[in-house]
Amino acid sequence: MRKVLSLFLCLCIGIVTLHAQTYSLLIKGGHVIDPKNGINGVMDVAINADTIAKVAKSIPEKQARQVVQAKGMYVTPGLIDIHGHVFYGTESDHYLSNGFAALPPDGFTFRVGVTTIVDAGGAGWKSFPTFKNNVIDHSQTRVLSLLNIVGEGMRGGPYEQNTQDMDAKMTALVARGNRNYVVGIKVAHFSGPEWTPVDRAVEAGTMANIPVMIDFGGSIPPLPIEELFMKRLRPGDIYTHTYALLNGRESVVDEATKKVKPFVWEAQKRGIIFDVGYGGTSFNYSQAIPSLKSGFFPNTISTDLHTGSMNGSMKDQLSVMSKFLNMGMDLPSVIKASTWASAQAIKREELGHLSQGAVADIAVFSMREGDFGFFDKTGYKVKGKQKLECELTIRAGKVVYDLNGITDPIVLPSAPPAKH
Ligand SMILES: [Zn+2]
Repeated sequence: MRKVLSLFLCLCIGIVTLHAQTYSLLIKGGHVIDPKNGINGVMDVAINADTIAKVAKSIPEKQARQVVQAKGMYVTPGLIDIHGHVFYGTESDHYLSNGFAALPPDGFTFRVGVTTIVDAGGAGWKSFPTFKNNVIDHSQTRVLSLLNIVGEGMRGGPYEQNTQDMDAKMTALVARGNRNYVVGIKVAHFSGPEWTPVDRAVEAGTMANIPVMIDFGGSIPPLPIEELFMKRLRPGDIYTHTYALLNGRESVVDEATKKVKPFVWEAQKRGIIFDVGYGGTSFNYSQAIPSLKSGFFPNTISTDLHTGSMNGSMKDQLSVMSKFLNMGMDLPSVIKASTWASAQAIKREELGHLSQGAVADIAVFSMREGDFGFFDKTGYKVKGKQKLECELTIRAGKVVYDLNGITDPIVLPSAPPAKH
């Protein structure tokens, strides 16, 4: 009888304990920066399945089945990189569209806290189905697309010069038919003196009610960016490679006076989104430092990740963010420009924040202190004392990257792709 009674008691305690474990995962004691919700302080974050369940001052550990000890670390929404190139493949003569220059996302995202990456123009309307089948559906990272106005996509060379292949109607049709994945239209690498690519992209963007992202110029003399910002683009359209200094492209800072051109301020006020799009050759300190010093900040921080940038001065999203931090942009602003502002730019406002009920895409960072060097493509180096390092990444409620095993118990990431 006594045995039966104790078994019964054990069962009861078991049920109570199980019931008390309301959450699948709890991030304990981290400094939460959630710009959308105005949170900048030490908070606990509780997750249930794939969703944020609660953000509060103190949530007991016993209420969760898995606990992340994040004391002394920063906890932020999963980062959103709105300019990357992940339409990887093995077709020769395909450049960033199912070719060798693009990269498989999962190897370059989770280890730096990125949970969403936007492929910026790899696929056009003709190649989007291949991109979806080969990359979007086989990645754990959430992969979105800016559809190239060129039907062939970013195949390089003459393909991207062919205005006959810039079909606004077909581009808009494919964008509208794939709303879950297509977040905008991309213009890139056009080197003629015509406005045709920009105008066709805006036409497609208007038909599909989505923004365009412009990688501008390549003609000599360059087309005026004042006309681009004030006349050709709509508020909400995105100008990428903001801090580039390249032949064939007008720069935002006057290199002689080191002043941000007056119409650039006006353009940002008008609603043009200024994106970093760092890349292999598209970022110069001679543009960025005077901009930041005078208070002209990027709306969004992105990498332009591809084989030509991954091992250069760019490296990854966190490296670019650390550069902006060391140039004097404050940490909450750097986080905002890589989360909430990015989600707004691509009109995916369900992402980029830690609101209750939002998808649990989360990043945990350490701030390393030391002597670091941040150089650009010219070799100019800025010294800095702080550098962000990714400790942990959570995608749809599951730990997908854990640098130092701060999760208890440690559960290794599984292979099947996350549901989008
Ligand atoms: Zn690019």
